Amino acid sequence: MKKIAILGSTGSIGTQTLEIVRANGDIKVTALSAGKNIDLLEKQIREFKPRLAAVWSEELAAELKGRVRDTDVEIVSGMDGLLAVASERESEILVTAIVGMIGILPTIEAIKAGKDIALANKETLVTAGHIIMSLAKERHVSILPVDSEHSAIFQSLQGGQSKSLSKILLTASGGPFRGKKREELADIQVEDALKHPNWEMGRKITIDSSTMVNKGLEVIEAKWLFGVTVDQIQVVVQPQSVIHSMVEYEDGAVIAQLGTPDMKLPIQYALYYPERRYLPGDRLDFTALSQITFEKPDMETFYGLKLSFEAGRKGGSLPTVLNAANEKAVALFLDRKIRYPEIPEIIASCMESHRNIDNPTVDEILKTEQETYEFIKNRW
Ligand code: NDP
Repeated sequence: MKKIAILGSTGSIGTQTLEIVRANGDIKVTALSAGKNIDLLEKQIREFKPRLAAVWSEELAAELKGRVRDTDVEIVSGMDGLLAVASERESEILVTAIVGMIGILPTIEAIKAGKDIALANKETLVTAGHIIMSLAKERHVSILPVDSEHSAIFQSLQGGQSKSLSKILLTASGGPFRGKKREELADIQVEDALKHPNWEMGRKITIDSSTMVNKGLEVIEAKWLFGVTVDQIQVVVQPQSVIHSMVEYEDGAVIAQLGTPDMKLPIQYALYYPERRYLPGDRLDFTALSQITFEKPDMETFYGLKLSFEAGRKGGSLPTVLNAANEKAVALFLDRKIRYPEIPEIIASCMESHRNIDNPTVDEILKTEQETYEFIKNRW
């Protein structure tokens, strides 16, 4: 019986992870955690019977405690709660399905406790990749990618040796506004940006996909996960989302992973690696698939992607600024406080005014995040 803990069990990745647990019957969930959704967390506690469950706010944690008095679960809260879930004594794998940089400290805690990480929380690697990857190496802990593109790269790398890898071809759907020019994005509304052509995801990542900042964050995530330079990563727009990413070896061979868009595949692969399991769902029908097409990304219209390449190349604390500025800008857009084109404008302005710190510590990363939020608060 495999034992796992989940950070962010009430979100899109978290609930799909639990679907896999439900379908397979040989994984024990030892700890769960949620931000605010205690109704769903209560249901999850009753179904999966974890030993521990965390809720971010103390008040909601107290309410949940009252509701689940009849069970054996221990309810914890705040950052201490997340750290307790991350290092829960029995779990072997921590699924980081929480959104945002709040995932950094719990991920570090889990690695220190010797847990393998099934990593969905890309913000952690984008901002603290230098810390996470070297700590994982030191503690002999595996970082198993859950993001579909990174899982595709990881799966493609099973076919060869990492030292022969010459290039990563990171595919992108191009989002709902592919083909539009910058001036055509001026009046985009929240509802338009929340319609992703191929994937069902949480709200923040869906907006990030529409601006292509998500792809930019994935470039930086790939740099850390696979130990390559940003210049070895090429973004290729593949609108049908059939090819989930590819790798090119030094002899020119290209190996890809293909499939229907279903996040359960990469989640299940990370949980059972290196084993493959049956997964119900649609299969690719190549005779029905009329075409797979490729395009260059339009980095002028979607210049958040260009800014991400710049942040990834320069490194240091700049990716934290990119990530924090984007997070705030997306939240402001979702609250209808700024227009859609202001998202990359805010990121660019924060990056320009930042004095980069080389090899930042966790404290410096978290301080940079707060300074970026302050910068935005004072101007927008
Ligand atoms: P969601 O917004 O759907 O879920 C986020 C989860 O994090 C929820 O369980 C939420 O709890 C929890 N959470 C948020 N803030 C806190 C907090 N302060 N304390 C504790 N828990 C908190 O996000 P997604 O599932 O879409 O994404 C999760 C991560 O996975 C992101 O980093 C994203 O980039 C990445 N990812 C997602 C993909 C997808 O298909 N969705 C694909 C690839 C990567 P609650 O809802 O209870 O408030």
